[in-house]
Amino acid sequence: MAKRRLIILGCGGFVGSHLTDRLLASGEFEIFGYDLTSKKCAQHLDNPDFHFREGYVDSSNTEEILGDKIGDVEAIFSLAAVCNPAEYVKNPVFTINSNFIHAYKLVDLCTKAGTWLIHTSTCEVYGRTIASYIPGDEYTDANLYEQREDETPLVMGPIVNQRWTYAAAKALFERYIYANHTENGLPFTIIRPYNWFGPRMDYIPGRDGEGVPRVLACFMKALLDGQPLQLVDGGGAHRTITYIQDSVDALTRMLDVPKARNQTFNIGNRANECTVAELARMMRDVYAEITGDSRFKEHPIEDVSSEKFYGPGYEDCDRRVPDVSKAERLLDWDPKYDLRDTLRLTMQYFHDAWGS
Ligand code: UDP
Repeated sequence: MAKRRLIILGCGGFVGSHLTDRLLASGEFEIFGYDLTSKKCAQHLDNPDFHFREGYVDSSNTEEILGDKIGDVEAIFSLAAVCNPAEYVKNPVFTINSNFIHAYKLVDLCTKAGTWLIHTSTCEVYGRTIASYIPGDEYTDANLYEQREDETPLVMGPIVNQRWTYAAAKALFERYIYANHTENGLPFTIIRPYNWFGPRMDYIPGRDGEGVPRVLACFMKALLDGQPLQLVDGGGAHRTITYIQDSVDALTRMLDVPKARNQTFNIGNRANECTVAELARMMRDVYAEITGDSRFKEHPIEDVSSEKFYGPGYEDCDRRVPDVSKAERLLDWDPKYDLRDTLRLTMQYFHDAWGS
């Protein structure tokens, strides 16, 4: 039987590599994958159902690289992105370029070909909660903080706070997709991930990359190197952590659900909400379990200002609570991994790769 053909832009990244694993394992798909590097998907390079092309796809070469393929596949997963807060503040032009300017041509080409574009956006487009602007609000009214795909306003801070370069570029990209849907009939699905964690996420500074990665890799590096875990501005911000296999479930389910088209989905595990300070403490405990060394339970944690950690222009998302009823209803999606298991599986991977 002929295989179903898909394009994955960003197949060599954290999410793309897990998605590629899952789709190829089913034996049902032929994948055309594109990325700057095949490091995280090298396990598939010999698979005849996987066609990898290395390089940067931007608006000047999208047509040359993808033009012939786009009309010939069932869907395109667009997963390539710069999605690291340290970059939004230090390299704001690059952040906007990579998340909008270099990417928008893909929307034009999918529109022209009538090909389904499945785009991974971000929960960060919601920005800060309305509750966070109300003095003394204790998050008692879910209408002021819960994030609903088709109702909740997108609330970003002022432009001098360059943290929002990413959210603004991603939000404009979503709007460009939606505008092309309503005006020109583009079939689309937009995914808003909530802190997806798992093996292969980011890099460990000083080992397989340089810079400031996202919180999981920052805390992991600190545990590996015997340095304190640093809580930015006290670690009071909330996050909703989702295990990558649950996320990939949502991404693959939609391929067989016609109603998933022309929808935006929050994909996050509501049961796994925690503050960053709670995350730090749980990671210490889990690492003590993994290593069998109970001293990790008391591993030092210290406060650091966001100005010192990221530089000027950082502002945090206070809380991210997804309404996922649409994914439950339309995709029959039900995340299974609790926070502890998510951390155990993720941290074990990094310990095996880099721990002594
Ligand atoms: N953070 C922290 N210490 C670190 C790295 C990040 O306290 O070493 C905080 C950051 O300020 C934010 C949260 O952890 O409140 C999550 O940051 P991440 O970089 O993972 O990305 P985000 O969830 O903001 O997109």
